[in-house]
Amino acid sequence: MKKIAILGSTGSIGTQALDVIRSNPELFKVYALTANRNAKLLVEQVREFNPKIAVIADKSKYGELKSALSGIPVEIWAGEDAIPEAASQAAVDIVLTAMVGYAGLKPTLSAIEAGKTIALANKETLVVAGEIVMEAAKKHGTAILPVDSEHSAIFQCLAGEKGNTVEKILLTASGGPFRKHSKEMLATVNKRDALNHPNWSMGEKITIDSATMMNKGFEMIEAKWLFGVTTAQIKILVHPQSIVHSMVQFVDNSVKAQMGLPDMRLPILYALAYPNRIPANFKSTDFTQLPPLTFEEPDMQRFPCLALTYEAIGQGGNMPCILNAANEAAVAAFLEDRISFTAIGTVIEKTMRRATFIPTPTLGDYILTDGEARTISEEIIRQVQALPGQQRPC
Ligand code: NDP
Repeated sequence: MKKIAILGSTGSIGTQALDVIRSNPELFKVYALTANRNAKLLVEQVREFNPKIAVIADKSKYGELKSALSGIPVEIWAGEDAIPEAASQAAVDIVLTAMVGYAGLKPTLSAIEAGKTIALANKETLVVAGEIVMEAAKKHGTAILPVDSEHSAIFQCLAGEKGNTVEKILLTASGGPFRKHSKEMLATVNKRDALNHPNWSMGEKITIDSATMMNKGFEMIEAKWLFGVTTAQIKILVHPQSIVHSMVQFVDNSVKAQMGLPDMRLPILYALAYPNRIPANFKSTDFTQLPPLTFEEPDMQRFPCLALTYEAIGQGGNMPCILNAANEAAVAAFLEDRISFTAIGTVIEKTMRRATFIPTPTLGDYILTDGEARTISEEIIRQVQALPGQQRPC
């Protein structure tokens, strides 16, 4: 029986992970659940899964949680610092990092230092501080098992290939809702359009990242750190059907692919059950019923956020951290109807030009960088808002 801590249990990945655990009670036990401020759903989850610990990051929700769970044998903790604490409890075997954004970095590092196996959904952790995180994992002998469907696919393709040279990673991308939009059309899209992903149902932030293709750039950086390849070895392919979740090309030019219908419960189950495969009742793929599988080059002109990810990882140092912070600020501003869709890239690019570059950052530097980049982004967002035609699209 593996004891699991789910960081971000009330989100899209978190709830799907609980679905996987619900179907396999003899294999997995929930030990800790954490949320940001959705106390109502956290209460329901605690009642169903009986964890030892429940954490709410927003301290103002503590009272609500406490009274709703009175009489239930669960420790209730509140505040951001309680999340790394919960993740590093001695009894925990696996920590599923399903929190969104930069907030995932500290708890992931704490869990690594405590020697926990990491099921990593929170890709921002590797975007911000990939080098430090991978070094910590090596030092503490911690396995990082990918949950992102593309990285799980690559990981599965690499199984049994130890010692064999990888020529290329073929990282697939759905292309998002605006794959066929011209630049002019992109200037007129709104939040509702951007949140309407064709193949996946996900949290709001990653759905916007998919629409801008920032998500694919983040995944390129994530793959570089997870699999120890150069960015030149990673080829992004737009594959709108989302059936081939990614591929690996070996030195003999043989290509292995992992395929299936889009369902995040599969990579979650694979990470939690690893190294075993266990039976699941997910819908199986009927290849005779699939549309033709197609592959295209990504368009960096129409999707400048993707080009910015190559620039950031090319510069290295704290630049990917600046990229991530600016993206979080810009996406939040777009979701609040403060800036247009195309202004997201503008805010990020301008922040990357203005923030202080540090070639070999420490963890402390990353924390300062995140704060500085967010402040700069907010200034740029206010300037963008003041420009005629740049504010909220209708
Ligand atoms: P959601 O927005 O659906 O959920 C985020 C979760 O994190 C919620 O439980 C939320 O709590 C919690 N949370 C948010 N901010 C904080 C914070 N500051 N401190 C503590 N907890 C916080 O996101 P997703 O599930 O879509 O994504 C989670 C991560 O997984 C992201 O990094 C994403 O890139 C990655 N991922 C997601 C995929 C998907 O299909 N959704 C696919 C591959 C990767 P609350 O509900 O209380 O706000």
